[in-house]
Amino acid sequence: MQKQGLNRFCQPGMGEKPWADQGSALRAALGPEMKVVMDGFLPAEHARRKTLKAPIGCVGIGLHSGRRISLTLHPAAAGAGIQFRRTDLGVDIPARFDFVTDTRLCTTIAAPTAPAARIGTIEHIMAALVGAGIDDAIIEVDGPEIPILDGSAAPFLFLIDCAGIATSAAPRQIIEVLRPVRVEDGRGAFAELHPNAELAFDAALEIDYPNTAIGHQSLNFRLSPEAFRAALANSRTFGLSEDVARLHEAGLALGGSLDNAVVVDGMTILNPGGLRHADEFIRHKMLDVVGDLALAGAPLRARFIGSRSGHGLNNQLLRALFADPTAWRWVGGAAMRGQGAALAKQKAPALV
Ligand SMILES: [Zn+2]
Repeated sequence: MQKQGLNRFCQPGMGEKPWADQGSALRAALGPEMKVVMDGFLPAEHARRKTLKAPIGCVGIGLHSGRRISLTLHPAAAGAGIQFRRTDLGVDIPARFDFVTDTRLCTTIAAPTAPAARIGTIEHIMAALVGAGIDDAIIEVDGPEIPILDGSAAPFLFLIDCAGIATSAAPRQIIEVLRPVRVEDGRGAFAELHPNAELAFDAALEIDYPNTAIGHQSLNFRLSPEAFRAALANSRTFGLSEDVARLHEAGLALGGSLDNAVVVDGMTILNPGGLRHADEFIRHKMLDVVGDLALAGAPLRARFIGSRSGHGLNNQLLRALFADPTAWRWVGGAAMRGQGAALAKQKAPALV
């Protein structure tokens, strides 16, 4: 396997205390201690759109293709949102739920006009960007996948730290969930979004892998840059050894190794270094929820409840939400309301 690594080095914290600044701002905007009732408005000083201060990149292996892939994150204009770009094909793909074409093994996105120009394994970098509070960015890759790096979002957070975060003058809008929405797979797994009395994204998730070292795990999480960094960012993707063998036989997960995934064989963790957290598995699944729901295109004010849900249900949940115009609304500055209506129209998804 080719060695992967970050190709631009930096000193941690180089980017003008992005976490401290942003953390206090978002805590004020989203935290439970918030005292001010805001009906349809966020406090302007705490709700400006953010992007990167400078481009930054790395090279790594694609989990499923096994290919060496170059990744570069670029700043983007306020309001641009997060966009993927296949530099080898010259195709741009907005990071939106309705452009997701495959949710087996990972979340894959493709432009409707060029379905072959897909990009897989987008969920961890999406989680890192939204976890860091980034609204606008361009993610360039020269191949069909985002590099897997160590299987978590921590290397992407490191890149964002190195680049630094720039705050624009443009207000951030959020999407407020107004009515409960539920999707299920018919085998007991489900995912739900509910209105949230708090101005926050809260999530409760459980997984169940009986007779394995994973077992039953559950986690409650409130999204903030500090919480994402401390609780979720470095938790790695995982698989059962029998599934890994089957994937390899099918020509999938070719880049997978103990360097970028936790592999579980019955009650045994095969990675020599063991786990990063005793409950690393549920933390990673929560990371996936954050990344998959980032494809809503804006921060969500909602409560998420999931049981054994994965990329498929996460994406179906967003499609169900946006299919019902009474289930959500844009919340932001009055000057942005017209744009919100236009975006709402644009976001109308093709139901699957
Ligand atoms: Zn994942």
